[in-house]
Amino acid sequence: MPRTTIVPIETPSFDTGALDALVRSIRACRVCRDNPRYGKPLTHEPRPILQISKTARICVVGQAPGTRVHKSGRPFDDPSGVRLRQWLGIDETEFYDSSKIAIIPMGFCFPGLRPDGSDLPPRRECAEIWRAKLFAHLPNVKLRLLIGGYAQRWHLGEKAARQGVNRTVQQWRDIYEEDPSLRRIPLPHPSWHNNKWLERNTWFDTDLLPVLRANVCRLL
Ligand code: SF4
Repeated sequence: MPRTTIVPIETPSFDTGALDALVRSIRACRVCRDNPRYGKPLTHEPRPILQISKTARICVVGQAPGTRVHKSGRPFDDPSGVRLRQWLGIDETEFYDSSKIAIIPMGFCFPGLRPDGSDLPPRRECAEIWRAKLFAHLPNVKLRLLIGGYAQRWHLGEKAARQGVNRTVQQWRDIYEEDPSLRRIPLPHPSWHNNKWLERNTWFDTDLLPVLRANVCRLL
């Protein structure tokens, strides 16, 4: 494996007013409850959950809140979050410091459950309405962590959509090396559902995680 160079960077400052206004609009959003574009309306009150600030240099892009996070209002406030923080090599204090880490799921609200009890996919409306606007206000982000297929499809485009999560994560180094000004690292979901995948793909621990942790350490 080639060695990966980690270069320190400067953080410019920006006006935060426009981002604050946008986040207020997101927190007030009821589109999927009152005026859905796709499928049935939410059967519960929307509760958009995201963590963000203009100064954040790392962005965690997840799927959508589950039931537990919907109740607590805190992203990754579950066993998946414990494993994700372990992958990143940081504790809760660092993870929930919005001045350093943004957490922006593909759907901000809990989408509801399927009849079998699994989570529905993130609401399509959410990315359509908010995503491009939101990322236009995050000029300091230098590392995007793309967790799961929905995040990878939106942030990496058609190729990721065609080949699926497994193949996309296997190609993490090519994706990571593509743009030194905005590093992107595709990750599997840190849930127990992926325990077998993690056991089979030992390179994830030995190759990917050290690069991920070095970047997180550099940017915090
Ligand atoms: S999921 Fe997104 S678009 Fe739908 S109600 Fe929540 S914030 Fe609005």
